[in-house]
Amino acid sequence: HITLGIESSCDETAIGIVADGREVLANVISSQIDIHTAFGGVVPEIASRRHLENINGVLSQALEEAQITINEVDLVGVTYGPGLVGALLVGVAAAKAISFAKDIPLVAVNHMHGHIAANYVEYPELEPPFMGLVVSGGHTNIVFVKDYNQCETLGETRDDAAGEAFDKVARVIGLGYPGGPKVDRAAKEGDPHAIEFKRVYLEPGSYDFSFSGLKTAALNHINSCRQAGKEINVADMAASFQEAVVEVIVNKAISAAREFGQNRIVMAGGVASNSRLREMIREEGEKYGIQVMQPRPLYCTDNGVMIACSAYYKMKKGEFAGPDLDAIPGLEF
Ligand code: ATP
Ligand code: MG
Ligand code: FE
Repeated sequence: HITLGIESSCDETAIGIVADGREVLANVISSQIDIHTAFGGVVPEIASRRHLENINGVLSQALEEAQITINEVDLVGVTYGPGLVGALLVGVAAAKAISFAKDIPLVAVNHMHGHIAANYVEYPELEPPFMGLVVSGGHTNIVFVKDYNQCETLGETRDDAAGEAFDKVARVIGLGYPGGPKVDRAAKEGDPHAIEFKRVYLEPGSYDFSFSGLKTAALNHINSCRQAGKEINVADMAASFQEAVVEVIVNKAISAAREFGQNRIVMAGGVASNSRLREMIREEGEKYGIQVMQPRPLYCTDNGVMIACSAYYKMKKGEFAGPDLDAIPGLEF
């Protein structure tokens, strides 16, 4: 059974082709990072236009990579939210066109469920239930994944998402956009305890997060360095900031897994490719007999494979979309 998955929620035009929900036949990602870098972030109008220009080429490339024709596709899945409305609409329109022209069923995929589904191709034996940790550009969620595409959010961010915090602090310390990978790299040369950024746990027992204070703390640190005539050590700042974010995420995810009796934590989203997060959560997990699943970085950030995989399992439950499918920019988990 062959599923085609289309992703265009933000700045990646991506199409994946997956056999039987688990085997990757093609994974084509056209990133727009180069264009948006000039503006220090994603510009919605530019993103939509680029998706439109890219999508047909990405489709041809994906079919070529999978060595199939469009006639061999059995199902088409597409991200319908959350994301930028104009960007989402390009993928949704393309998916509807393929579904109509080839007379194959259409499935609407929640982008966040997609991120989790990336693990099903990376770990072919993995099945729900498990504890999910979704850390991305727009989300920081601890979710109890009860079944394919069925998640209960136990905690989420009250302000900035983890990825957003990385991007903001990167800008403050002059590392530029996109910040996550740059902070990750710079941190390797720094001392994670050079600056003790506050660890924000909120109320005892809460699985929610708050990262907005970190940007201000980083700014304050820079200002006090300047006033004292001291040089700013970018590597130390990156390492110290990263340690503060990662420590809170790891401790909350482990607590949630233990409270809900789960011995597996499944990571997803762009920040799940952070090397320190991957290392610390594995070490902590080991202490409590918790196995940690972490997709290769390629499958942590946005891709079409994860959408195809999620669509396959929705199809199995008989959840199809019709020609009236619309994008929902604010779609909840
Ligand atoms: P969402 O999935 O919530 O809609 P998104 O699709 O924009 O948001 P992703 O593509 O999953 O987010 O992830 C992008 C985010 O991941 C960016 O904020 C980026 O800085 C961050 N990121 C990527 N690599 C790393 C890394 N190595 N360390 C920390 N953050 C990273
Ligand atoms: Mg992106
Ligand atoms: Fe994403």
